[in-house]
Amino acid sequence: MRAQVRTAVVTGAASGIGLALSDRLAREGASVLMTDVDGASLEGRVAELAASGADVSGFVADLTDPAAVQRLAETAFARLGTVDVLCNNAGVVGPVGRPVWEVPPERLRAVMEVNHWAHLYVARAFLPRLLAEGRPAHLVHTASMSAFVVGAASAGYAMSKHADVALARSLRADLAGTPVRVSVLCPGRVDTPLVRGLVAPASATGETVISADEVAEAVWDALGTERFYIFTNADTRRRLRRELDDVWRQVAAPTTSPEEKLWRATRARPATTPTDGPTPENWSP
Ligand code: NAD
Repeated sequence: MRAQVRTAVVTGAASGIGLALSDRLAREGASVLMTDVDGASLEGRVAELAASGADVSGFVADLTDPAAVQRLAETAFARLGTVDVLCNNAGVVGPVGRPVWEVPPERLRAVMEVNHWAHLYVARAFLPRLLAEGRPAHLVHTASMSAFVVGAASAGYAMSKHADVALARSLRADLAGTPVRVSVLCPGRVDTPLVRGLVAPASATGETVISADEVAEAVWDALGTERFYIFTNADTRRRLRRELDDVWRQVAAPTTSPEEKLWRATRARPATTPTDGPTPENWSP
């Protein structure tokens, strides 16, 4: 399908991966509608790409507002005619550095609003028309390796990325047999404003850092193929293996774990007085 990528919509296009995706698609000759909540940045980036000869235009929208997403879809079909590639990419990192019980729920909800709900609104606004047209199209969700590998003190981001992969997997099932493909992009750390200055342990972000252009290249490679997961960083295999092994160990060797033994022993023990307070030895529901 790559040869037929004539039109594209990219969300979160004023910066980082979205900007690189817009540039990559435009360099292949596509007309690209770039959208972002940050109007000033968007205007600047659109002007820069247009000055280099790209066929791009901008549309400012806060994608957490379903009405704004609806206007985006109407504008996209009006300007571009149809949409061959839709990059559902906008995202925020949200609160990191504190355990989930110390983060105000509204801050966690705000991350879900952009990284999950806005992606859902975008898919819902574009898919009915794409399906009605019956032409090949490709929807690419930007999730993250945080949908698989979870470190401490970043629950909001991890929750939102798990939800985005679940949404993409559901779309994949729902779209089976239609000409609309879906992929989910799962980068490790990428050098963009989202993570610059963010200090996180390698266990949470991996050990490799790649450029947004490299990510855009990987997406370009996957367009028009049946590739569902798009992984980008060199340490992906090792990081995923560790996670999946952890799951598999529980399935493959369902022996009594040391924790379960401890639990049984705890319950068999006589109750302690309330003044003792909960300790790992006497705590029970
Ligand atoms: P970025 O901050 O450079 O770009 C994100 C863009 O999304 C910004 O221009 C921002 O204004 C826009 N945006 C935020 N909220 C929006 C909203 N409500 N409506 C419309 N636009 C909005 O970050 P990035 O690194 O390019 O991130 C792009 C995507 O890649 C995100 O979904 C992010 O979670 C994901 N990702 C990034 C990394 C990384 O290490 N940088 C790794 C894995 C996944």
